Amino acid sequence: MIGAVIHGQGDVRAETRPDPTIAKPTDAIVRTVAACVCGSDLWRYRSLAPVPEPKPIGHEYIGIVAEVGDAVTRVEPGQFVIGGFLHSDNTCALCRKGAQANCLHGGGYDGCQAEAIRVPNADGTLVATPGVPDDALIPSLLTLSDVMATGWHAAISAGVGPGQSVAVVGDGAVGLCATLAAAQLGADQVIAMSRHETRQQVASEFGATAIVPERGEEGAKRVRALTDGVGADAVLECVGTDGARQQAVACVRAGGMIGVVGLPHGELPSHDLFWRNVGVRGGPAPVRAYLEDLLNRVWTSRIEPGKVFDLALPLSEVAEAYRAMDERRAIKALLRA
Ligand SMILES: [Zn+2]
Repeated sequence: MIGAVIHGQGDVRAETRPDPTIAKPTDAIVRTVAACVCGSDLWRYRSLAPVPEPKPIGHEYIGIVAEVGDAVTRVEPGQFVIGGFLHSDNTCALCRKGAQANCLHGGGYDGCQAEAIRVPNADGTLVATPGVPDDALIPSLLTLSDVMATGWHAAISAGVGPGQSVAVVGDGAVGLCATLAAAQLGADQVIAMSRHETRQQVASEFGATAIVPERGEEGAKRVRALTDGVGADAVLECVGTDGARQQAVACVRAGGMIGVVGLPHGELPSHDLFWRNVGVRGGPAPVRAYLEDLLNRVWTSRIEPGKVFDLALPLSEVAEAYRAMDERRAIKALLRA
């Protein structure tokens, strides 16, 4: 099969890799329909995270079950399925509490930007759609594997609910999905911080009530001006850089909450947060906890998070997909397998 392998900075190649096979009775093999490139894949592509040796890459996928191990009972060959960016058994003591990203028996995959994927813990990880979806639904279903669930997690972590003011730091795919999540969860005000016109447009379509293009103290000032001079009840930090984290702290009101889902690079000022009674919560999204609800919202056309994809390429052109995202020519690139 063809699968993407990262070799080092700026070097992702579509290569021939061995077809995955069932290794454990709880595994399934999924024939990929679509995969995509994540902002977090770019950390390694940009050499901000190490690549000690060539490694299959990618963790977002949807596809059709090709084969299941003897112990798999909840999915069967032929079903169209979505799996989160981490697998989980969905039965351990942490999964039962909704902490599937930290499953006691969970983990990652051997590269999902590939024509086929071995999915461990298939019963606990995969959710089948009600039927084979229309082509038009493919992008939105694919976002449920990571970005939409991650944006949702930012909003849930920050306790977003009706009547609140929410500021979203980051206008990548996750930030845009967090904007959509905040609107879906009933926030009164959703302030999207973005200075890119095409991304501002998507944010507005997703329910942003205001756009703030300024950054730093100027941006925080704009957010305060929109929130009775105090800052947002909730800030969703969807980037992870030091600058984005400082921006989130500057935009939240005293007593507010910051939901963090960007891979953390930089410290949070714990003294400042303490004295201002600001809470911080978040981490990798427990996708499985949200998957059924989000699938229902997509299937019934209440949300269309697939709008974050503005580039679609065949898997064989994965190198161009990375280049386009690295150069910010694309918000997010879908790969057809
Ligand atoms: Zn578990």
